[in-house]
Amino acid sequence: MGGVINEPGHVLLTPGPLTTSDRVRAAATRDFGSWDQDFNDVTAEVRAAIVRAAGGMLGRELTCVPMQGSGTFSVEAMVRTFVPQSGGLLVASNGAYGERMARIAQVAGLRVRVIATPWDQPIDPGQIARELREHPGITHVGLIHCETSTGLLNPLPDIADAVHACGARLLLDAMSTFGALDTLPDHPGVEAAVAASGKCLEGLPGVGFAIARRESLAAADGRCSSLSLDLADQHAYMERTGQWRYTPPTHVVAALREAMLAFEEEGGRAVRLVRYQENSRALADGAASLGLAPYLPDALQAPIIHTFYAPASPRWDFSAFYQEVKARGFILYPGKLTAEDTFRVGCIGQVTPQTMAQACGAIEDALVEIGVRRRGAVAGPTTLAPSRLSIRDRKIPR
Ligand SMILES: *Cc1c(COP(=O)(O)O)cnc(C)c1O
Repeated sequence: MGGVINEPGHVLLTPGPLTTSDRVRAAATRDFGSWDQDFNDVTAEVRAAIVRAAGGMLGRELTCVPMQGSGTFSVEAMVRTFVPQSGGLLVASNGAYGERMARIAQVAGLRVRVIATPWDQPIDPGQIARELREHPGITHVGLIHCETSTGLLNPLPDIADAVHACGARLLLDAMSTFGALDTLPDHPGVEAAVAASGKCLEGLPGVGFAIARRESLAAADGRCSSLSLDLADQHAYMERTGQWRYTPPTHVVAALREAMLAFEEEGGRAVRLVRYQENSRALADGAASLGLAPYLPDALQAPIIHTFYAPASPRWDFSAFYQEVKARGFILYPGKLTAEDTFRVGCIGQVTPQTMAQACGAIEDALVEIGVRRRGAVAGPTTLAPSRLSIRDRKIPR
């Protein structure tokens, strides 16, 4: 795999922006005129490739609507475009992105209810069904497929079934899964899913998109309380003219076309998923051998990003650790949990199991450097296990 380390850059073990290939970055060096037919062709190719990546059985019924901005802009566009003022959104939340979606609905002035599930537990489809039966005015359910704030994978098929059985529609934040995991675009309970260029598709950050049925977009015409974030209007205009309504991020879209070519050459979603699963396994094994305790049990862990407890040492200092790991070529992520001291390591992007093993080596050296671990220790440092489980229960090698 070429171009994994690009001096003076680092390997990003962060789930967006992430480590990209030289060919994807090189594709961003060409200037395109936003009105030019060459760029209209780029847009059309990207949209078609994203629909193909979505898979599903809908064929021409399914469409891709690109939206300028980071991923959050597309989440906000989806919520504002599809949830009618007369309806309501039930957000099933078990992490920071679920909380953000609820906030988006609140700011939009929509009726919103939240199922607040602990961050280390999956969303319960039965609880969604009960909420929907008790509150028949709710038209939509918001779900985060993989909660990137922890790495937890929510049970999408069961949740989509439950939402459909209750006559509601699912709005899916598939930001950190689209391109690797099945996002069920053709499930009758799924109204739309959103994702972005700079996650599992391994493009540059800066553009998002929604996948939805043409009929859903047509039905949402005139519903959106925002001009620039109106997916129905963006879709109608793009279908009519081949162009974006407002200035497109031309370089990012050109790089995304290259990323989609690379995606299809690699073998598409199933092959990418296998690579990420292998990365995830290499990371989990490497961390376990260092005695780092994972926040989530294996069964809830998505092969996207892992959260680890900080080592239980008075010498632990995340920013010193971060700098030592960075000096060895890798960029990690701070934890997003408020109550517990954690850090995160992503396993998506142009990285392989070898990269993950090297990262674990860098993590080991950094732990030694900051005085949390003895060099060559067979066991790792003890880690801050969650209060309800003792270290012994978590089977940390000692
Ligand atoms: C990355 C991400 C987003 C969007 O975040 P931005 O910083 O706006 O790109 C939304 N939801 C999830 C689950 C994500 O991983």
